[in-house]
Amino acid sequence: MSGAQPAPLLKLEGLTKHFAVQSGGFFRRHVTALRAVDGVDLEIQAGETLGLVGESGCGKSTLGRMIIRLIEPTAGSIVFDGVDITRLDMQALREHRRGMQIVFQDPFGALNPRMTVEDIIMEPLLIHGARHDDAARKRVDEMLGLVGLPLRARSRFPHEFSGGQRQRVGIARALVLNPRFLVCDEPVSALDVSVQAQIVNLLQDLQRDLGLTYLFIAHDLSVVKHISDRVAVMYLGRVVEIADKRAIYAAPRHPYTQALIAAVPVLKPRERGRGRRVRITGDIPSALNPPSGCRFHTRCPYVMPVCRTDEPKLAPTDAGHLVACHLMDNQESNKG
Ligand code: SF4
Repeated sequence: MSGAQPAPLLKLEGLTKHFAVQSGGFFRRHVTALRAVDGVDLEIQAGETLGLVGESGCGKSTLGRMIIRLIEPTAGSIVFDGVDITRLDMQALREHRRGMQIVFQDPFGALNPRMTVEDIIMEPLLIHGARHDDAARKRVDEMLGLVGLPLRARSRFPHEFSGGQRQRVGIARALVLNPRFLVCDEPVSALDVSVQAQIVNLLQDLQRDLGLTYLFIAHDLSVVKHISDRVAVMYLGRVVEIADKRAIYAAPRHPYTQALIAAVPVLKPRERGRGRRVRITGDIPSALNPPSGCRFHTRCPYVMPVCRTDEPKLAPTDAGHLVACHLMDNQESNKG
């Protein structure tokens, strides 16, 4: 059918992770569910960058790790390149892992300090059955060139590099198996501001040259605005808004998104979003006992009685713009 949207490279349906947490004294121990991710539906098209934002503790890193099954989901499904990988056994999963890799936030913590850069980058090849031979060494050299590191870096150790250079090693390691999809989990948060731009530019160049698809997780909305095509906003384990980057920054609909965007410093006043200037106070509630109804109702300046009892569904407002908020119900009925 002409004009039909191609099948997404990645499709999540009802993806959920509840961690069992023990509480109470030694004798009256009981188990509670920490609802880190609670029924997330998302699609990412090939070649796209989807930014995923939210305060720390909202579940975005857990979601990223679940997608590549570093964390096992409690419920829901992950379809990657047409294959449901949610319950593949480890052997079958290993083949699919070639196609999906992760870049971590802390490049120092993610790299084994006792391994040389060559061994770090080569390790995924060896895990997938390659030999430690000239072909593997050549592939490492290719990767070093791709991420802008000199060949002499091969024999050095992670502590000999700056934070930005270590992140380049982390990216080379993530790309050595020639994946199609990268989860970038706060890849520049631990870096100096001056270095952040270099790494973001590198990721953009690699995306263009290698045809990569990214889920870019961050709490810094300026970075996400720069790199993303679409943006999804998470609050307490749920996605509350998804839209094209321009739409979400110019006219955010969900009060939580409005507050996040209002908190971003802007140099030019005319670049300020046209949405309401919302301020929120207080901390994100515990995922052990999330609020009833809309999870944002304890902090929302527009809270209504229905918000305390009924959970709003993620629903379209405009083309491609999805929002989970009862204020949208009122707008829809006013239109009618
Ligand atoms: Fe605020 Fe209600 Fe909308 Fe939740 S559903 S964001 S509490 S107005």
